[in-house]
Amino acid sequence: MHRKKPFRGRTEGKRKFIVVTGGVISGLGKGIFTASLGRLLQSKGMTVVPIKIDPYLNVDAGTMNPIEHGEVFVLDDGSEVDMDLGNYERFLDMNLTCDSNITTGKIYKKVIERERCGDYLGKTVQLIPHITDDLKDWFMKVADDNDADVELIEVGGTVGDIENLIFLEALRQLSMVEDVIFVHCTLVPVVKVVGEQKTKPTQQSVQKLRGIGVQPDFIFLRCEVPIEQKIISKIALFTGVPEDDIIRGQDLKNIYELPVVLENQDVHKKVMDMFEIKKRSGNGLKDWKVMTDNMKNARKKVTVAMTGKYTALHDSYVSIEQSLKHASALVGCDVGIKWIETTDIEKGKTKAKDALKDVDGILVPGGFGSRGTEGKIECIKHAREQGIPFLGLCYGFQLASAEFARHECGLKKANSTEIDENTPYPVIDLLPSQKNVYKKGGTMRLGGQDVIIKKGTKAHKLYGSLKVRERFRHRYEFNPEYREKLEKSDLVFSGHDKSGDIMQILELPKHPFFMASQFHPEFTSRVLKPNPLFLEFVKACARKK
Ligand code: GLN
Repeated sequence: MHRKKPFRGRTEGKRKFIVVTGGVISGLGKGIFTASLGRLLQSKGMTVVPIKIDPYLNVDAGTMNPIEHGEVFVLDDGSEVDMDLGNYERFLDMNLTCDSNITTGKIYKKVIERERCGDYLGKTVQLIPHITDDLKDWFMKVADDNDADVELIEVGGTVGDIENLIFLEALRQLSMVEDVIFVHCTLVPVVKVVGEQKTKPTQQSVQKLRGIGVQPDFIFLRCEVPIEQKIISKIALFTGVPEDDIIRGQDLKNIYELPVVLENQDVHKKVMDMFEIKKRSGNGLKDWKVMTDNMKNARKKVTVAMTGKYTALHDSYVSIEQSLKHASALVGCDVGIKWIETTDIEKGKTKAKDALKDVDGILVPGGFGSRGTEGKIECIKHAREQGIPFLGLCYGFQLASAEFARHECGLKKANSTEIDENTPYPVIDLLPSQKNVYKKGGTMRLGGQDVIIKKGTKAHKLYGSLKVRERFRHRYEFNPEYREKLEKSDLVFSGHDKSGDIMQILELPKHPFFMASQFHPEFTSRVLKPNPLFLEFVKACARKK
């Protein structure tokens, strides 16, 4: 039996919380750690629900530039959230709601709106207790609503930041009334010349945390190399965290190995003992290990060209990258990505056929605005004419329609009105529901919608169903006036919305694999259940190879 924690609060109840904080530097992989711990606990028969706290003032991630902040992830309920929620959904195979992402903007807005309604009955409204009380209620409600054994709360930012202080205070208060375990993630840097591992940043970061009134129960140590035992002992001495509860987090080649790395250190047992949760029966990590072994043993390597304008920051396409990775694990190959900056093709710095030589597939992801779009259209043309497997996502679907209209239907200069307002053939135009929308935050056509699939098409074959649910994030759509014209030239719209007006999947039946979707299949792809579009695309790439 591992040590118990003398919780100050209610111990007989069901709700348990694990709070994950970060120290020393940002980008330590707290999100992956939280998701992996969640997966491990699930595999031992527990139900979990995650919450990500983002201490910025934006109400949600929807208005943020992916170059600055990474991808905007879209949940089924239509909320635009931090990309960490994507990792949670993929690792935990859960559909989360907007309640799993709290930002400073969101919580302040809630309290300020209540103040405007006079709900505080003349009181002075303050950070403590009003914001902290609301936060505590939020944490408890999410655990109850999801009937979760364990709620995982990841605090964004680094301990010592001004921005996340109020959240840490709320969590400290939560630990006075509920069962809360704190896990602090830090870094053990290695001084290159002497190869010495350093503990001071961890010591100081834990001191900072203690200054806020939080003593961590576990420490998760990131390090480039295996951590020496004497380093663990020293950190235990200085932080008051027993050696046994210091988790080793050596850099991994593959992030999906982390749940197994944690299992090998009995982290689940230690957490369950501390919470006094009795042993449950779960499915274990067998399937998970098969998947990571497949990734490790893949011999065949395929290369997919990813065309875009955010290629400078790969985090803007993280869900696509991961979806390709899960799909390839199932196919038994290894997918490498070749990033193609389409503005270079547009400006004539390079030719599409040169940039795309040696690739086994071409993927055109979502995007906004006109920069780089002509370059993307050239890449699509190349894929179509050369029989290279092609997958277009959202903007990729729209641009594939424009390319086909231009070069196969004689509609010269066909375009999206997002790119060229005066195009003679607006094959892509604003959705009617978007015509009077001026505000930017949360106003696109967002979230999960049904896609009705046409019988006998490739889409039907790969989904194996005539109705599926996929997630959307767009303002423009294929203009139904041009449908007949394109379909006469061998393009098939194999998926549409319930009304039949909004086109949602297109395919070229005579091409080895040419498909595009108005939705984002990368938002529904799960580690052990890749989205069928990705799976078939990767299979087609492997066949081409
Ligand atoms: N810009 C396009 C639209 O708004 C595509 C959006 C996207 O790719 N997410 O419809």
